[in-house]
Amino acid sequence: MLARALNLLFPPQCLICNAIVGQNGALCLPCWQQVRFISDPICACCGLPFEYKMGEHVLCGECMRAMPPYARARSVFAYDEHSRALVLRLKYHDQTQLAPSYGGWLAAAGKELIAASDVIVPVPLHYWRFVKRRYNQSALLAQMLGQKTGLQVIPDALKRIRATTPQTGLTRKQREDNVKGAFTANPRHVSAVKGKTILLIDDVLTTGATLEHCSKALLKAGAMQVNVLTLARTVN
Ligand SMILES: [Zn+2]
Ligand SMILES: [Zn+2]
Repeated sequence: MLARALNLLFPPQCLICNAIVGQNGALCLPCWQQVRFISDPICACCGLPFEYKMGEHVLCGECMRAMPPYARARSVFAYDEHSRALVLRLKYHDQTQLAPSYGGWLAAAGKELIAASDVIVPVPLHYWRFVKRRYNQSALLAQMLGQKTGLQVIPDALKRIRATTPQTGLTRKQREDNVKGAFTANPRHVSAVKGKTILLIDDVLTTGATLEHCSKALLKAGAMQVNVLTLARTVN
């Protein structure tokens, strides 16, 4: 009854456009149709969506040129003007309302990776975000996925050992230099990482430089394999 009364007072709103919707954490139909949820066919390694089906285990040009240190990356949706609001919600919305949707989306997009993983690890707090606002989207997503799947989450398995500048607006090479040597495995959690398959979580995959260096740090600490799951990824 309380839930019903609250629903009348504060009706659930679309996470993107604030239109009234049937339940908390939902999207209205027009917004749902605009968000580009990623599905097959995709690059077998980095999860980049392909226009056409090209067969099983096909790699994109980027992965063929140089395989990333992580085994596989998967994302829920393409990062564009429609989905940007969903990433921003993580900062400005009541997380308990978001957890069912976001946890469910991540669990669906990362189904195969989750089945193969022992432990969930978020990308550590981005230093510039730390300065602006003490809020870690990656840790939040990791927790939501942990609740959904029952997998263990180690929020501080990775440490940022050097401040990095915002990645926005940097070239690929600049991004690469920016995050080089910026991460290390937390010595306190090495035993929980050693020999394990790690599911690394972040909000957005852009060039992948941050996720690649986090993966390397985990592998250096003895992780058997690292897979990556993000809420969004750039597709161009
Ligand atoms: Zn909407
Ligand atoms: Zn690829």
